[in-house]
Amino acid sequence: MIIAVDGSAASGKGTLSKRLANYFDLAHLDTGSLYRALALQLLSTGTNSDDIDENQVIKESLRLDLGLCSAPEIRTDSVASIASKIAALPEVRANLLALQRSFASDSSHENGAVLDGRDIGSVVLPKTQIKLFIDAKLEVRAKRRFKELLRAGQSAMFRDVLEDMRER
Ligand code: C5P
Repeated sequence: MIIAVDGSAASGKGTLSKRLANYFDLAHLDTGSLYRALALQLLSTGTNSDDIDENQVIKESLRLDLGLCSAPEIRTDSVASIASKIAALPEVRANLLALQRSFASDSSHENGAVLDGRDIGSVVLPKTQIKLFIDAKLEVRAKRRFKELLRAGQSAMFRDVLEDMRER
């Protein structure tokens, strides 16, 4: 069983996916964490969001340290800002797409997998039969993102987070 969970930012798709993974004993991949891990890897080489070298990003995406996907630092603003820029690069998307598809088809995941993130049902796993799209009110999503930032040790103002989310 392969489940694709897409949805708006901070709508709770990650939480739902973790619960589905627990309930059905599935492997789980938060695909946004791949882009965030790559951003963190770049950050550690001195990259910042105003100075992104496309060739370097592509090179790093081919040797992505998957261990970074679980680092709490991937939830910070600076990482998110680089992640959203590199996620727009077609070659990076292609490299990470391959990683996502191989996770979904990995035969060591006996009962299957649940993957969540942008474009999962439409681009990454278009043929999967179980596709969910999660949405929530703007205020609810902003509250969730705000808590996530605080947990990552960031200082944030709820008003700014709400505004940022409204503009997305
Ligand atoms: O969902 P999250 O905020 O963790 O995603 C981090 C970044 O990666 C975002 O900019 C998001 O648009 C991008 N992303 C993507 N494709 C995915 C998952 C996330 O482009 N499948």
